[in-house]
Amino acid sequence: MSETIFSKIIRREIPADIVYEDELCLAFNDIAPQAPVHILVIPKKAIAKLSEAESEDHALMGHLLLTVKRVAEQVGLTDYRTVINTGAEAGQTVFHMHLHILGGRPLDWPPG
Ligand code: 5GP
Repeated sequence: MSETIFSKIIRREIPADIVYEDELCLAFNDIAPQAPVHILVIPKKAIAKLSEAESEDHALMGHLLLTVKRVAEQVGLTDYRTVINTGAEAGQTVFHMHLHILGGRPLDWPPG
């Protein structure tokens, strides 16, 4: 997988507003928030997109979802949306898998 900006954030080569970290993942505020709360949860393992996750990533995928729950609680969100854009046509722009946490305002459905 080619290098992305998120690898540089993991290595602290560029700054980010980090809200949670453990041995497997990192969560930080999105640089261009689309809601009052907009946090990205990323695995430290460089997986380009969800469709490239493998069976060996089973526990990691669960860990990422439970980290969404943990971070949402940490920032006081009860209602929120979790989004994983997979591939350019779905809106993915950074090819290091990530989960968006969006909240703090009413969210429309369906998305554009
Ligand atoms: P995607 O469109 O790939 O699902 O989401 C990528 C997200 O990463 C976007 O919401 C974008 O604003 C965010 N982003 C891109 N570059 C940076 C950065 O350097 N720092 C932070 N904190 N967020 C970034």
